[in-house]
Amino acid sequence: MASVTIRNLSKRFGKVEALKDVSLTIENGAFVALMGPSGCGKTTLLRLISGLERADSGTIQIGAQNVTRIAPEKRNIGLMFQSYALFPHMTVAENLNFPMRMRRDYDPSERSLRIDRALELVRLPDIGDRYPRQLSGGQQQRVAVARALIDEPNVLLLDEPLSNLDARLRDEMQIELVEMRRQVPITTILVTHDQTEGLTLADEIIVMREGRIEQAGAPRAVYSDPATPFVADFLGGANLVRVDAAPTAYNHWRARAPDGTGVPVPSPPDGRPGPAVLVLRQEHVRVIGAGQTADAIVPAEVAAVAYRGQSAQLSVRALGQRLRLVIPPSVRVEAGEAIRVGWSVADSRLIR
Ligand code: ATP
Repeated sequence: MASVTIRNLSKRFGKVEALKDVSLTIENGAFVALMGPSGCGKTTLLRLISGLERADSGTIQIGAQNVTRIAPEKRNIGLMFQSYALFPHMTVAENLNFPMRMRRDYDPSERSLRIDRALELVRLPDIGDRYPRQLSGGQQQRVAVARALIDEPNVLLLDEPLSNLDARLRDEMQIELVEMRRQVPITTILVTHDQTEGLTLADEIIVMREGRIEQAGAPRAVYSDPATPFVADFLGGANLVRVDAAPTAYNHWRARAPDGTGVPVPSPPDGRPGPAVLVLRQEHVRVIGAGQTADAIVPAEVAAVAYRGQSAQLSVRALGQRLRLVIPPSVRVEAGEAIRVGWSVADSRLIR
């Protein structure tokens, strides 16, 4: 196990600046998720850490060792990429033995001990003699995780490891990964474009945008206090309303929406009046029935309703734009209906 320290890392592919002066420290034993839209540089960063790609400038340190110019196989990193790519003509045990054999690591008895231990870790003992085709997709995935861990690497890199699985299996594997980490607290970096996956699995998320780190922090902190409209939108598709904010008496703030509606807002982080973005999470906006109150209440017209079993997704026209809400299915509204929606100021955020 080791920490990973990245300083001023840049990488260019022809005209594309895939990474721009990225610096970050990943603590020993941390589970970090690199998130962001397609093309933001997640995979490039992972490939640079693994050594599969060379940086143009900057340094990468694993533990106390500067590995920037060190070959991938000497970095002691476990890798698992999108397609788990087990060799179909080899049994599970042979698949696990392969990386050790290639590197001429360990004697045969030590190797077989490591294979048993790795399979136990992913809760698949006794399948060493099977071929990949005799395993389910989820089991194959777990064998691939076992293979990445076989050398007890310092760092485990996972690039979209669950993206080939169907939704149910993905949920199961997420729980497995959390469980596995409790047993082996290895420094792990996960690349995912799936917001829920990053928020569920990681101790820290790093949201990237166009080759840079936009925001990093604990999942809950980044989700509830996005630093920029980009992060607010990327993590869970918040409603973003362009407003003009001004202080009122008693240190309270109000803001005017594009349609002229005035609403109470929290104070902006920099304390300055003027244009800002009001962030309203879908789950924080409620339908306000007769006799109910909220800090902010505005008229709305229901545009569409989609019932989803445990919840319903509502799209309304309010504040001069479209707002999306997640509401309990017991709240019955119909398209075209005039309603009121509201939220508490403490749940909303004002950012620039
Ligand atoms: P995705 O989620 O789609 O995998 P990503 O965030 O992992 O995206 P990268 O694969 O790191 O993004 O790519 C970052 C940028 O660098 C993109 O514009 C991509 O087209 C470009 N790029 C990556 N690898 C190469 C390459 N080998 N040659 C040329 N351009 C590349």
